[in-house]
Amino acid sequence: MSTTIFDKIIAKEIPAEIVYEDELSLAFKDINPQAPVHLLIIPKRRIATINDIEEDDRELVGHLYIVAARLAQQFGFAKDGYRVVMNCNEDGGQSVYHIHLHLLAGVTMGWPPF
Ligand code: C5P
Repeated sequence: MSTTIFDKIIAKEIPAEIVYEDELSLAFKDINPQAPVHLLIIPKRRIATINDIEEDDRELVGHLYIVAARLAQQFGFAKDGYRVVMNCNEDGGQSVYHIHLHLLAGVTMGWPPF
């Protein structure tokens, strides 16, 4: 299975501003933030896209959302609100083929997102 830049971040081979880590996941500040707070939450085990998520990944994918909610509390924007998105493939705006939640906060978001 091919790797992405996120494998290098997980292996600490390239720098990232890591804000949370456990045995299953890693969270770090997006290098190109699209909001005052923009974190990425990734599984340590690579799944390329949402389309590749299997039943066996249920716990891992759920864990990413639990980490997102904890970080929202920790960073102090849980009450005001925030957005969590996962892009899929070209039309969805995915550029790194290792699933990741974008956690965006610190501004009132608009909708729709295009
Ligand atoms: O959803 P998408 O695949 O486009 O998101 C990838 C994200 O990874 C981008 O927001 C990009 O800024 C971020 N990134 C990063 N650090 C890197 C490479 C990409 O934070 N070294």
